Amino acid sequence: MKYISTRGGIAPVSFCDAIMMGLANDGGLLLPETIPQVTMAEVSAWKNLSYQYLAVEVLDRFIDDIPRPALEDLVDRSYSRFKHHQVTPITHRGDIYILELFHGPTLAFKDIALQLLGNLFEQELQKRSTYMNILGATSGDTGSAAIHGVRGKDRINIFILHPDGRVSPIQKLQMTTVTDDNVFNIAIHGTFDDGQAIVKEIFNDLEFKEKHHLGAINSINWARVLAQVVYYVYALFKLRSHGFESVDFSVPTGNFGDIFAGFIAKRLMPDGMIHRLVLATNKNDILARFVNRGDYSKGEVSATSSPSMDIQIASNFERYLYYLRDQNSSQVVRDMETFNATGNLDLSTLHEQVAADFRSRAVSEEETLETIKQFYQQHDYLVDPHTAVGIRAGLEFKDAARPMICLATAHPAKFGAAVQKAVGREPELPPALAGLSEADSRCVLLDANTEQIKSYMREHVLR
Ligand SMILES: *Cc1c(COP(=O)(O)O)cnc(C)c1O
Repeated sequence: MKYISTRGGIAPVSFCDAIMMGLANDGGLLLPETIPQVTMAEVSAWKNLSYQYLAVEVLDRFIDDIPRPALEDLVDRSYSRFKHHQVTPITHRGDIYILELFHGPTLAFKDIALQLLGNLFEQELQKRSTYMNILGATSGDTGSAAIHGVRGKDRINIFILHPDGRVSPIQKLQMTTVTDDNVFNIAIHGTFDDGQAIVKEIFNDLEFKEKHHLGAINSINWARVLAQVVYYVYALFKLRSHGFESVDFSVPTGNFGDIFAGFIAKRLMPDGMIHRLVLATNKNDILARFVNRGDYSKGEVSATSSPSMDIQIASNFERYLYYLRDQNSSQVVRDMETFNATGNLDLSTLHEQVAADFRSRAVSEEETLETIKQFYQQHDYLVDPHTAVGIRAGLEFKDAARPMICLATAHPAKFGAAVQKAVGREPELPPALAGLSEADSRCVLLDANTEQIKSYMREHVLR
């Protein structure tokens, strides 16, 4: 399996080269040349596999430059720190199913991909006798998951930008209390989109990128999308074992990474098994406008109680656009030029095609808190605000023909203030979070200025 760029400007590369490249060298995003197709025979062979064995089967379809025993070892190590033996268990509450993705070390779904990516990087760097400086921007959860994925690893330094004052206190502590020598936390005066723009700009400086062996950990890295494909397939099998032929998923969405993994899973599995994906946004609704009207136009970012979705430019959107444009790279290039120049893309003529895969709804702040409260009162189950956004939209699009699986993307204790506001009490802190506020911490505060960030990096990179 080779990987190509959405913009068509690079020669096809292997999986390991693709994950080491991060963003493609032509500014596009990497994708497999074709999406593999799971057969009905494989469906029966896979149906009772554990999470880890299933992960190996799925990953193996997309990777041909890691031998299977090495892949098995990588998967085992990556999921050994999860607190639930099923890694991503499902629970049935009222009308819906909840897929709990928060049993990893930082209590958000991003651990599922970043534990694996950390180990993949480590293995590749050793094999190539080289090193990497990871650079990423976070709206809260990516940063801590990435840091926990690579902390203490040889051959890797990690630089994470987060918007000062716009991540929850616990999210901040989960990053800044990791004081391993290879971890550099940078708070910036600005928004998440500012951080992401700086990261993109630095990666587009090919001289800087090559000189310092920059590696990406944002959801633009293909390995992140791929790792997330696994739990869609796992959840599908769980519900098939309960007699359901097909399922819908509801996904609280920011950067379009998680839901794009759902899209790949939908194409990977036999037709119709994953019926539709509900794209749930908070009031930052660019993606909801896109799905409902073909209006992909940038608005202002507003802060909400689900900060990991406070995003107006979805970095993985270009991957979906590539399929929407029938894999026509030149059209993708023109679209991205238009979007970058005007902040606006009119895709209304493609609406029918989008509707075959997605439904969407933007969920307000009031609805989010109301959903947390109702879900707690009716089902004695506390959800975090991101999960609540997905549940609200999922309930709206649930049809009688098939189950709706809502992705629980974070543990409620990560967003205790919002939960407290909704139900009048804070969730109990799980052991991973207790005691963080007394721990040592390390972080610098810089302007949202590319040159300043670069010069800080020059002082601290591995070389
Ligand atoms: C990152 C994140 C999201 C959004 O995921 P995307 O892949 O950016 O769409 C949703 N919920 C939580 C808790 C997150 O950390």
